Amino acid sequence: MHRTFSEGPFSQPPSFARPSLADFVEAAVERLRSGKEPLPAMGYFHDLAGKILRPPLLEKAKKEGRKVIGFYCAIVPQELIAAFDAVPIRLCSGLPASGHHGLPRDCCPVVTSSCAFLGSEGTSLLPDVDAVIVPAVCDWKSQFAEVISPHLPTFKLQVPPNKREASAHHERLRSLSLLTRFLEELTGRQFSRQKLLRSIKTYQKANYATRRLADSMLEEHSPIRGSDLLLAMNVSFFDDILSWTNAVMRLLAEVAERRPANHIASKPATRLLLTGAPIIWPNWKVPEIIEEEGGVIAAEELCSGARIFYDPVKIDEPTTDDMLRALAERYSLACTCPCFVPNDDRLFRNISLARRYRVDGVIYHNLRTCYLYHAEARIFRRKFRELAIPFLEIETDYSLEDHEQLAVRIEPFIEMLRGAK
Ligand code: SF4
Ligand code: SF4
Repeated sequence: MHRTFSEGPFSQPPSFARPSLADFVEAAVERLRSGKEPLPAMGYFHDLAGKILRPPLLEKAKKEGRKVIGFYCAIVPQELIAAFDAVPIRLCSGLPASGHHGLPRDCCPVVTSSCAFLGSEGTSLLPDVDAVIVPAVCDWKSQFAEVISPHLPTFKLQVPPNKREASAHHERLRSLSLLTRFLEELTGRQFSRQKLLRSIKTYQKANYATRRLADSMLEEHSPIRGSDLLLAMNVSFFDDILSWTNAVMRLLAEVAERRPANHIASKPATRLLLTGAPIIWPNWKVPEIIEEEGGVIAAEELCSGARIFYDPVKIDEPTTDDMLRALAERYSLACTCPCFVPNDDRLFRNISLARRYRVDGVIYHNLRTCYLYHAEARIFRRKFRELAIPFLEIETDYSLEDHEQLAVRIEPFIEMLRGAK
């Protein structure tokens, strides 16, 4: 079916900044490749990052006659989509969208950009996507689901915000069972316990690879940069999970080989925890500024980073009920998105990361108009101050204009940390 946004209530999607989007992506990839001695295995991720406007996974899915299911958040269980032989592709975008047609002017940058990514002329993914899953985690995402639904089969995933309420567990299970029915209807396939089990095991390998990759930043002088790790995680949005896991394992093998020589040569680094709202490729200005100023992103707690696969789905028995329970728990109880309340485990996780990765300071990435992260930032600031860990809060969006303003904030912070070492 040929779909465009030319009809219906959302007739003018946000558009992308000109000059050419392709040039913008190419320049961003070129900067990655020209970075300090990238490991050869990073080439896989650089290549895919350069193909974001037309991910090869789409062509592959079409050739194989498989359904493509777009989804918009780390809260969506990819294992369940893959269990129906469909192809999950995360369509959250960091491309610099301009204009707000069809969406409120102060809409969250993730939603504006993701909307443009799906439907604007420069990318035109819309005809190749068979359905989307949008979690109702915040008002913007809920509105986004309404905006897309006239154009694509849309499943709005209800996410009970309170992790501790007894009734929330039943609601989560109900949401998953509705999603299962949606996927059955869309793919024309029946749910298979065996396929779900296989799918969970496949993703567990990605969990293992992700943890090892994150651990490679424990070393004072890892041969990969924190932004390499973040890029690898971002590329997983639109890659086949097996290919991606194999690419990470190749990268890990190179990390192990190169580690000793690098370790002897380098000076003490200024180590940082990068946390807050999602940083999504190719909007790479924050990681670039940090590393240009000599900072090391030793750890990150972003839903576009290691958090995507960090926690495995833990099953006790391979029964349907137990696997659905395990999925529901993994994608809510184990999730540290600030859309959940109470969310002290999120703060606890950030503090644990800061300690485990021996960071000198924390950079908190806020996105304009994201009230969830704004509300949380004050709590984080207070807590990290109590712990005497320097904390910098920055606010930005996915435009290209504020590079200088960000650099002016980040540079003195890193210098101050360096001076204090
Ligand atoms: S911040 Fe939370 S709700 Fe938003 S995309 Fe990330 S995990 Fe999903
Ligand atoms: S960044 Fe904030 S406002 Fe935007 S979609 Fe995620 S949670 Fe919602």
